[in-house]
Amino acid sequence: MAIIKEDLLARAKEISQAGVDYTPRYGAICPWCGTKKLPVARTMSWDGSTRVRYHKCPGKSCIISKLGIGIKSIEEDYYANK
Ligand SMILES: [Zn+2]
Repeated sequence: MAIIKEDLLARAKEISQAGVDYTPRYGAICPWCGTKKLPVARTMSWDGSTRVRYHKCPGKSCIISKLGIGIKSIEEDYYANK
């Protein structure tokens, strides 16, 4: 059981660092606890059709939050290049 949890945490860390999708409706969603509209810590400039943001999860019982892991999100504007 413990091993499975560690695997899930490793996966959630990977996703946090690689970037989750940023959606107009839900913003960024925590890959561990599923909190929607994560508060934004830092917003980067548009780079082509994508924009990167960094978030912190406010979930009190969220491991990602407890470990101080920032969550990256990527917004894509599908019309940017049209
Ligand atoms: Zn969380």
